[in-house]
Amino acid sequence: MTQAVSNSAARRDIEFHLHSQTNPGQFEARGPLMVARGEGIRIFDSAGKSYIDAMAGLWCASLGFNNKRLADAATRQYGELGFYHTFFQRTHAPAADLAEKLVQLTGMTGGKAYFATSGSEANETMVKLAWVYHTVHGKPTKRKVIARDRSFHGSTIAAASMCGLEFMHREFGLPLPGFLHTLCPWPYRGMLEGEDEAAFVERLASELEKLILREGPDTIAAFIAEPIHAGGGIIVPPQKYFARIQEVLAKYDILCLADEIVCGFARTGNWFGKETVGMKPDMMSLAKGLSSSYFPISAVVFAPKIYEAVARFNKEGGAFGHGFTNSGHPVGVAVALEAIKIYEEMDVVAHVRKMGARLRGKFEAMAEKSPIVGEVRGAGLMLGIEIVADKKTRKPFAPALQAGPTFDSIAYENGLVARCMGDVLGFSPPLIVTESDVDEIAHLCEISLSALEKHLA
Ligand code: PLP
Repeated sequence: MTQAVSNSAARRDIEFHLHSQTNPGQFEARGPLMVARGEGIRIFDSAGKSYIDAMAGLWCASLGFNNKRLADAATRQYGELGFYHTFFQRTHAPAADLAEKLVQLTGMTGGKAYFATSGSEANETMVKLAWVYHTVHGKPTKRKVIARDRSFHGSTIAAASMCGLEFMHREFGLPLPGFLHTLCPWPYRGMLEGEDEAAFVERLASELEKLILREGPDTIAAFIAEPIHAGGGIIVPPQKYFARIQEVLAKYDILCLADEIVCGFARTGNWFGKETVGMKPDMMSLAKGLSSSYFPISAVVFAPKIYEAVARFNKEGGAFGHGFTNSGHPVGVAVALEAIKIYEEMDVVAHVRKMGARLRGKFEAMAEKSPIVGEVRGAGLMLGIEIVADKKTRKPFAPALQAGPTFDSIAYENGLVARCMGDVLGFSPPLIVTESDVDEIAHLCEISLSALEKHLA
């Protein structure tokens, strides 16, 4: 980890660069991990050591780290039109093509797509659209948003307020008023003694309803959820969860927003996570896999009724008062179109199902042998391994043991980038993994886990 500190870029980085989600003191002491280049699913540090990045960076580089077709698509578009905006009735063909493609792919028939540049912006856009919708329908007091514990929705102020993770709030006095949280549908940790899945779902729905009634249904605009929690610990809800939750939402005229920023574009073994978990959202936010993160682009795709509200609001004149300079950036949309073309050509859904099942099978075999694997969970190529001090009682490790972070360090030394979320070890590799890549990830994980077991013994 200290390999790069003597390198002058590393020294300059320490001196001048504030990093996201990084402890400043630790960073100054240890220095940065310098990533020099990428090749397929692998990255190389500045000393030339290779690592499989089994997190696709930040759940995003679905086509690996040096895809030539994406680079060529960007270069072509830069040569044609390197920038134009989409305000004031301007557009260009790639933006129209991508909007059409996203409406088709998401099944939001008759709906529209809106472009932004980050996942956080897309989520904030959904909230503003929800406010317009209720205002137009004569319910301007419907302003509050309900998210879930352990959710991650981004870093801008409203998006961070929707996160259900304390580390996103503590420095900033968040959440903002009006951003509420309900229970996380986490069977492994959330189910009570003697409770079965059906009763668990019923309790989650009833807690949501109690929150709505306590706050006043006329104050709640929307409910936002990742189909499968990503950064909160790869948490798959019970199969009936969303159907039951959406009954409650419908009863109180609350819009359902899907944050598909990680789950979208086949990560969970379907084009979108909503299909994997049976969610029927009014709006969906997309980013990451949309362009394999080769360009900062995000989108919101929404049902016709949302567009109708925006159109009605502005029917006497005035314009939709929202937008980012780079909304629908021509290079971003060109790269996203090419990424989607590649996904279609590789039959990404079938590929992810096959590779995901193989990786999961190997993790499950490993879990049987390991004294510290409590659960393997996830869907498609979004898998988590929860490690515990006691498999039978599910007792977690004492936080001081730093079991998850220690796994990350060991894996890194072994040439594998994973990502611990507390004691949940996350795996979200590029979707282009082959069978032999999957086998190598599983092998590197197994030897790292054995080393962790010895370290903890
Ligand atoms: N939503 C989810 C589920 C995410 O995982 C993330 C980022 O990791 C975001 C939203 C925020 O996206 P961005 O960092 O592009 O703003």
